[in-house]
Amino acid sequence: MNLSVHSLYKHFKTKQGTLVALQNINLKIEQGEFVCAVGASGSGKSTLLRLIAGLDTPTSGEITVNGVSVTGPGADRGMVFQKYTLYPWMSVAQNVGFGLKLQGVPTTKRREQIAYYLDIVGLTQFAHALPKELSGGMQQRVAIARALASQPRILLMDEPFGALDAQTKEKMQQFLLELWQRTGTTILMITHDVEEALFLSQRLYVMSSRPGTIKTEVNMDLPGDRTYHSKKHSIFQDRK
Ligand code: ADP
Ligand code: MG
Repeated sequence: MNLSVHSLYKHFKTKQGTLVALQNINLKIEQGEFVCAVGASGSGKSTLLRLIAGLDTPTSGEITVNGVSVTGPGADRGMVFQKYTLYPWMSVAQNVGFGLKLQGVPTTKRREQIAYYLDIVGLTQFAHALPKELSGGMQQRVAIARALASQPRILLMDEPFGALDAQTKEKMQQFLLELWQRTGTTILMITHDVEEALFLSQRLYVMSSRPGTIKTEVNMDLPGDRTYHSKKHSIFQDRK
């Protein structure tokens, strides 16, 4: 699996005129990579992720998986948002299995999958709990399990730990890093927290805010390297 974004533009029509949210975005993510995109608020991070997730259509440009166009609405890219967006009336297990049910996965198979992914996020004993009975970090783990359960080719995360307190956030970062190392899931995570991005990702894109372009691509030596030394910095796509 490799995911490519080619000359992606997204314009929004507003009362003030046309807002250029993304301008000539190019990026490539290989199977098993953990990539972060960082940028200030308003730099177009969520817009980029929504386009990659197939939740919206670009003004122009193309998104491909293994060279095949997946531009526009699509269903096989798991998405985790800052707000956990769990269904409050469903149990943890039902939340995890929701996408599978929509996909028409038969009950027995669905139960197996739910158990498997609840185990991965360490929440087996909370299968029958309601979301409100769990802490913020645990709810976000349910959201991650739900995204993984639909077996997406890439896990897309939009500031997943943005709403968590510092201590929980650190635990979740560690958790996500271990999950990535254990499962080899391809991850694209958006964050405005540069330290988080440096800690987690193998490679990161820096979004420039005027207007939404990618300014720099940074290659890390190792994920989980908090010492920030000997990074290869390269100007990837300077803005016009
Ligand atoms: P970020 O996630 O980096 O904070 P966004 O992708 O949410 O940035 O937004 C980028 C720009 O696009 C912002 O100026 C925002 O106001 C604008 N924008 C995003 N979504 C819409 C929309 N649906 N309609 C109009 N403008 C939008
Ligand atoms: Mg955002």
